[in-house]
Amino acid sequence: MSAAAITHSTLADDPWLQYICHACGYIYDEAQGDPDGGLPPGTRFADIPEDWACPLCGVTKGNFEPYLAPSLEALQAQARSRTASAPAVSRHAAPGVVIVGAGRAGWLVAEALRALNAQRPITLVTDCSGDLYDKPQLSIAMAKHLPAERLVRETGTAAAARLNLRLLAHTHAVRIDTSANGGTLRTTRGPLRYQHLVLAHGARAALPPGLPAALCWRINHLQAYQRLRAALGHTPRRVLIVGAGLIGCELANDLALGGHSITLLDTEPLPLARCAGEARASELLAAWGQLPIAFVGSVRVASLDPLAVPSPDGALQLTTTDGRQFTADQVIVAAGLQTPPRLAQSAGLAWDGGIAVTPAQLQTSVQGIHALGDCITIGGQASRFIEPIARQARTIAAAIAGAGDVPYEPRPASIRVKTSSWPMSL
Ligand code: FE
Repeated sequence: MSAAAITHSTLADDPWLQYICHACGYIYDEAQGDPDGGLPPGTRFADIPEDWACPLCGVTKGNFEPYLAPSLEALQAQARSRTASAPAVSRHAAPGVVIVGAGRAGWLVAEALRALNAQRPITLVTDCSGDLYDKPQLSIAMAKHLPAERLVRETGTAAAARLNLRLLAHTHAVRIDTSANGGTLRTTRGPLRYQHLVLAHGARAALPPGLPAALCWRINHLQAYQRLRAALGHTPRRVLIVGAGLIGCELANDLALGGHSITLLDTEPLPLARCAGEARASELLAAWGQLPIAFVGSVRVASLDPLAVPSPDGALQLTTTDGRQFTADQVIVAAGLQTPPRLAQSAGLAWDGGIAVTPAQLQTSVQGIHALGDCITIGGQASRFIEPIARQARTIAAAIAGAGDVPYEPRPASIRVKTSSWPMSL
């Protein structure tokens, strides 16, 4: 769509309005538009075409509603009422809800639970800092000149205070001991009794054979991304990306726009082979003609090693099974996701490529344990998109709070590929 195609249905001097995405919380600001999505600054919401997709989660404009930022007074009043009604949490608090994982899924469950019950003790356990951020931003931040530290929307500590919950940051969940009424989560900071346990720990980038974990980046959360940005620094680097799916293509696009030269490898002959047709993949490759991205298809990694003659900047050499060699300063793996099985196995949860949950209630095979987000499978299918997470969180919160039946409905996902040189919705 071109800027000329947009007709302004409101006078330009009317105040700019904001609209919030139901699915992911993205706020569309008319003043800023969505230039990557073809909407120049100043595009009124009414003028957005029906096929435009939310830049973060991919839903269409029907999923947006007007947004008014709450006033400071309203936030203060809300905080006062929470402090008055909610008990202080302590290590010896009554067993309440324990949530494992402080990504979008973990925080959305906590928010949905709080909305239904101001008093129930909630503990959030995470192996990172628990800071809130939008993961889709990790693959578009460089082109937007966003420093890695500016991606934090709210610190974990601030969100914990806002929701009056106990945040155990930098704490690893080690094992689950189930018992008749609830159970115990063993963590690196001691045991936590729970009445309800919610697993929201997500998935990890899979490591194809031949790639040692210590030599390559797996970018599936903010901390890893921040370390990668620090390692890349401000000079152009040679970056090798293994895997040309959604994340691999978006990262290739973004890092290339950031001035780095990219070699993108995949076992398939074309990028996005699992989600786009041949025609669209070819269009993407043509659009990349202007960028320093070399796509190499139909190759499989054999090994990755430090250069035989070590270089001062620690360059690496990747060899493919057909004997081709590539040298790079940094290697990123984006060859799909895997749910770590250890925690689920410790509780004997049914497993189906991920934590198997019931389709409507997102209940695992053990009473009192729910799961959502990237770590689950429904009927053997993983759903690793943003849009369903908020709906899954509401379903689980309602089940735990006894607030009626709010069944979850899997829906086909709409994906917006954030390759700014050739953006597309699938
Ligand atoms: Fe959204």
